[in-house]
This record gives sequence, structure tokens and C-alpha cells, in this order.
Amino acid sequence: MTQHLKHFIEGAHVEASDGARMSLVNPVDEQEYATAARGTAEDVEHAVAAARAQLDGGAWSRLGGAQRGLLLSRLADLVERDAERLADMDATAIGRSPMEPRMMDVPNAVANLRAAAGWANQIEGRTIPTGGYMGVRTLSYTVREPVGVVGAIVPWNAPLMITTWKVAALLAAGCTVVIKPSEETPQSALHLAVLCQEAGLPDGVVNVVTGYGEMVGRALCAHRDVAKISFTGSPEAGQAIQRIAGPLFKRVTLELGGKSPQIVFDDAPFEDAVRGCALGLFINQGQVCAAGSRILVQRGIAPRFAAALAEAAGAVTVGDPRQPGVQMGPLAKKAQFERVNRYIQLGLDEGARLLAGGVARPGRGWFVTPTIFADATNEMTIAREEIFGPVGTIIEFDSEEEAVALANDSDYGLAATVWTTHLARAHRVAGAVRAGAIGVNCWSPLDANLPWGGVKTSGIGREGGLAGALAYTEEKVVTVLLPS
Ligand code: NAD
Repeated sequence: MTQHLKHFIEGAHVEASDGARMSLVNPVDEQEYATAARGTAEDVEHAVAAARAQLDGGAWSRLGGAQRGLLLSRLADLVERDAERLADMDATAIGRSPMEPRMMDVPNAVANLRAAAGWANQIEGRTIPTGGYMGVRTLSYTVREPVGVVGAIVPWNAPLMITTWKVAALLAAGCTVVIKPSEETPQSALHLAVLCQEAGLPDGVVNVVTGYGEMVGRALCAHRDVAKISFTGSPEAGQAIQRIAGPLFKRVTLELGGKSPQIVFDDAPFEDAVRGCALGLFINQGQVCAAGSRILVQRGIAPRFAAALAEAAGAVTVGDPRQPGVQMGPLAKKAQFERVNRYIQLGLDEGARLLAGGVARPGRGWFVTPTIFADATNEMTIAREEIFGPVGTIIEFDSEEEAVALANDSDYGLAATVWTTHLARAHRVAGAVRAGAIGVNCWSPLDANLPWGGVKTSGIGREGGLAGALAYTEEKVVTVLLPS
């Protein structure tokens, strides 16, 4: 029998208020492997009320930072205990090899929770010297209070990891949450909520409402008791969220898409750069916000570099990710498959030279082979728009100034990599490129202690590190008159 997943609200698994369900499909064989509750506005109402009650005098509101930290620590241990299970959930949902979430997503989730366990006890105020009040001395201090109920809206490409970016930080800050996982990948968020209960978090602190963005996501954005929306996903959905949450003055963090450049200078460590560019293009089938999809290569080494990258693309084994030795599975969903193929055709139509891939695998499953285009320009659609698939576009440059100009000539600004052995150039370019995160001789390093987020169309705000937790607080000032 197909497994059925229900919401997790106030510590219990519940059906959608109208009993509706949605289908979860395995991208490898296009077969339904589970169903999940298709949430309604009423379900959101129920979950937000549970989350709010925990802040309004509930057990959670009475815990101090050290106690929240202890609970986060226990939660981290439980996630680590269930690592394989959680990795398999995320892998099945999007047709990814379980090795990737086992090696990256789950350890990252555990690290986020462990780091947040430390931040929970560092949510501090300040004492601020002032000029007094009407000639009388004053004492002014600030306190950091939890912002309130958070609506956490998550995409499908790295479900557990991205959920913990949000949940770890907001719990450290003392907030409560209603998680809206992607309609494609609700399983690991639901399991995380169950683990929160096992760790000892009071029921109602972490709730999950499964369903579609148009219904559940919108209802969260419009709900008057949701104080903050923490969103990761596409710029289009980010705009829709701003249209609703903006006029309601909700706090919003938006982690959006990218078209990240990898800048390869002629003095780059050649083999490392080829490997790093291939990783940045093909991990998770290229369905990564920070995918290094614009490869800017200095002209002198461009032919050799393009040939090496095409060879690396050709060496990737594509197939059923459950089979040993397979490095790349299918794209996560049909719409994604159609989107990526549309961009490949656009690349050909616009005159880029196809060096590798570019073909869909016949038969069942949404497979696209690793694809490299060369002789492209930064004006081509494949260089400007986020493809979110295993497609790299090589663009040549002559000088450092030109490389920086090309890197910055983009609507996006999430991440960038500089490949060079020239120390001063590495720092110069890192300073000049407009992006939230720059890697020097490494593609997109992630760490729970580092801030993550973008500029321009790549988003608003940062997650990660203590500052990421502080973003789930409001700073209140208290001034006490001290007459002598
Ligand atoms: P998406 O925007 O389609 O969906 C993301 C989430 O938003 C889903 O849960 C969806 O149901 C919900 N949603 C959709 N429309 C909504 C609306 N109108 N109101 C409220 N919620 C809505 O994105 P996706 O296809 O799931 O993910 C891919 C995108 O996410 C890419 O653009 C990628 O770059 C981006 N992403 C960014 C980061 C980052 O850290 N910057 C990380 C991962 C993915």
C-alpha cells in the first residue's frame, strides 16, 4: 500500500481539513510512491494557533536560552541517529543518489542544529550610554525577543538542510514555526518535527503543514499571527510572497536563485578548477541555488579548459541513483525536465557550441545528461537565466577587469568562485564581485557558522551564524529614569 503522510500539528499527525491528498512521484520511474495531505487555509489556522499558544505563556515561552540549547543539542543527536533514513527520504523524493545527502545535507543539518544550540545562549542585549532624559540620568538597555511565529517556506532541492537553516536559528531565538515544505518533498520535514517531539520540545513549537504554495504558502504569508516569513525558493514566488507579506509589514528573509560565475584565470590550479567547476555544475543534477553555471575562462586556457570540463561531464554516470556507481540521477520533476530541455534548445538556437550532453535519456525518468556549452556570450539566455539543471555555459574573457564586469553583469548575486594562484588578484576579485559568498579556489563552501544569502535578485537577508539567529529577534529598548 502507498504510504500516506499527514500534517504534524501540535504534536499529532492530522489530515487536511477537507481530507484532500496530493501525490508524491519518484522521478526515476515516474510512479507514485506516497501521498500527502493537501493543506488548506484552515490547516494553517490550526498550526499557527498552536505555534502562537506556545509563545503566549506556553511551556516554550518559559524556557531560557540554555534550555533551548539543550533541546537543540538533543535534536541534533536524533537527526544524526536517523541520518540514513532522512537522507533516503530526501534522495527518493528528488531522484538523487542517497550518498549526496548522507555526505552533505544531513551532516550540514546536524551542524546547523549543534551550532544553534550554542547560539541559543548568546541572544543578548546591550547596555547603551545615553545623554539622559530632560536633565535626569537614565539607564538604557536592550533585550532581544523572539520575533514570533515564523512561516518557513522551503524548496525541494535540499529539503532537510534548508529546513534546518531556518528551524535551528529560529528555535535558538525562541520563536515557534509552521513549516511549509515543498509539495514534492514533505517527508524529511515531517520526520524532523517528530524528532523535535522526541527531543522534548513542547508540542506546537514545530508544526508542519504539507501542500501547495498557492494555498498553504499564501495562507501563511497572509496570516496576521505569522510575524516572519523565512523563504527559500524562486524569485517569482519570492515576489508573490512580498506582495502579500510586504503590506502586512511582516519580516521577510528571501533566499532566491542564482547564476553564479566561476572565474578561471590562466594561473588557476588547472585540475582543481576543472574538478571544482564540474562539482559546482553537476552536484544534485545542477539543482543547486549556488550552481556555478557561468564559467568565465581566461582566453589563453579556454580551449584546453573547455575540453577538460567536457570530458569531466562525459565521465559522469547517469542512471538510477539507487544503483551503485551511478553519480547522477534524473531531474526532480517533469516541469524541471521540460525547463532544462527548453534552455538547452535555446542555447543551440542562440549559437552556443555544444561540447557535451544536451540529450535526454530515452525511456522512463526525467534524465538529462551533463551539458557543457562553449563559445557563449553573457548576453545569451543560457548565461542570464537560472536553468537549475546540469548545464554549464563557458564564456571567455581577456582581462581581470573584463572578468569582474562579466561576473557582475547579472540580475543575480548569490555566490561566485575565483580560481587563481595570484594572491592579490584573488582578494581583488573577491572584493569586486557582487555576491553574498565568494569562494577562492573552492566552490561554494557551506558552514553553519557562515552567513548565507544573496544580493540583487538572489534575495534579501542572511541565514547562518549567530547573526542568522538574531534575525529571528526584535531588539527592544528599555529606558529607566534614575533621579538622584
Ligand atoms: P519555488 O519558488 O517554486 O517553491 C519554493 C517553495 O515556495 C515551495 O514550498 C512552494 O510550494 C512555495 N511557494 C510557491 N509559490 C508560492 C506562493 N505564491 N506563496 C507562498 N509560497 C509559495 O522554488 P522551487 O522550485 O521549490 O526551488 C527552486 C528555487 O529555489 C530555485 O530558484 C533555487 O535557486 C532556489 N533556491 C535558493 C536557495 C538559496 O539559499 N538562495 C537554496 C535552494 C533553492
